[in-house]
Amino acid sequence: MNAKKTVAIQSPAKINLGLDIAERLEDGYHIVRMVMQTLDLCDTVTVSLREDADGTKGPVTIVCPGSRLPVDARNLAYRAAQLLIDDFDIGYGIDIVLRKRIPVAAGLAGGSGNAAAVLKAVNELCALGLSPQELRARGKKLGADVPYCLMQGTALAEGIGEQLTPLPDLTKGCVLLCKPMVRVSTRWAYEAWDEVKDQLHPDIDGLAACLREDAAPQERLIKAASYCANSFEPVIFPRFPIVRQMKETMLKLGAVAAVMSGSGPTVFGIFPDEERMSDAAVRMHRVYPNAFVAETHVRQKQKQDRDG
Ligand code: ATP
Repeated sequence: MNAKKTVAIQSPAKINLGLDIAERLEDGYHIVRMVMQTLDLCDTVTVSLREDADGTKGPVTIVCPGSRLPVDARNLAYRAAQLLIDDFDIGYGIDIVLRKRIPVAAGLAGGSGNAAAVLKAVNELCALGLSPQELRARGKKLGADVPYCLMQGTALAEGIGEQLTPLPDLTKGCVLLCKPMVRVSTRWAYEAWDEVKDQLHPDIDGLAACLREDAAPQERLIKAASYCANSFEPVIFPRFPIVRQMKETMLKLGAVAAVMSGSGPTVFGIFPDEERMSDAAVRMHRVYPNAFVAETHVRQKQKQDRDG
């Protein structure tokens, strides 16, 4: 066995700078085109190997302090560990500690990120030697966003979200997150989108082209902001008006873009500098005292993630 028995991995949140639902397939799946961006708001995922795999504990255990997340096979981190145990007949138990900072069911891919972190950790701890491509193929079995969560950085995601093309890193932008206390089912959001007459189709190619431009960082950020949009907004706004209100409030507070992430309900605002972001955070807290409000930043691709 590899000498290392425990590894702690940062599991970052993502936002969708752009999200276009391109079409619905016969089987009910949707083809999407998205520009993904990693943030520096992270959960910490600690994974340890345990010798007594056949002991009283199950092969996988999860502890998630301060959270009501399920700690059985309903947890994506659990399923990630189980997948590798089954594929490689791993003879150890796998103990996982999730320190959650990313809000759950928020459109920030917290669960997918945790699954990606567990795949990376077990690959390292058990010296499985899985390549980034092999890890991503396994990630896809767990969820459409998991391959991106393995890759991280700025990327174009197509297909069901698993076909990835890296884009040049966005400069260290200031991103304010605001999540209202409402729960949106992703399945419901897709079904509702199918019924929408006036579908919104953001210009994903325009956004990607803009990110590829060789402009000054701040200029590139501001220009990219003008392309940020999400097909789900016209579906979510009528049902959950608070999401639209948050978007409008952020724009009034000086965001260069304010868009819902994923199928919501989190709204992110891109701010031109720290000062305006902090000021907006204070005001958002005041206007929406029950909301989750967090100041964060675009997270550049890390050296260790570069091949992931
Ligand atoms: P996405 O942006 O990929 O749609 P999300 O941010 O909307 O994801 P998650 O936070 O990943 O949503 O949670 C979605 C569901 O997954 C929740 O109902 C939650 O109970 C479940 N889940 C399973 N495992 C986890 C985990 N480790 N962390 C968070 N949620 C998890």
